[in-house]
Amino acid sequence: MEDRFKFCPKCGTQVAKDVVFCPKCGTNLAGEGLPDPATNQQAVPTSTTPEKSPNAALLITLGWISTVVSLLFVPILFGVAGAFCGYRLTRFPGNRTAGIVLMIFAILFGIIGVVMGAAVGATIYGS
Ligand SMILES: [Zn+2]
Repeated sequence: MEDRFKFCPKCGTQVAKDVVFCPKCGTNLAGEGLPDPATNQQAVPTSTTPEKSPNAALLITLGWISTVVSLLFVPILFGVAGAFCGYRLTRFPGNRTAGIVLMIFAILFGIIGVVMGAAVGATIYGS
């Protein structure tokens, strides 16, 4: 379909599309042959790739800090905190393995922390 021309609705004269008034009868042609809205639609790019949540990086950092700290201070509290961070991490796509590893280490370090704390306490304070 030729799009550069339109026809006057009154007298039927073929005129260029951007002409506002019909050269023959003077009819106002504005509003006729408006640009098709479909051709002006801009495709909005929607991100379908799951972006790595900044929360995941935060959980890894907090989880490992808690895990390491659990070896030295209040192992039950920090071990649980580290394991919890690991558990939360498993809910993030792409971080499942990291979360599981963190949970295992947090629990392990927590237990080691308890045993070490008990051993140190026994050594310092005697039985
Ligand atoms: Zn006309």
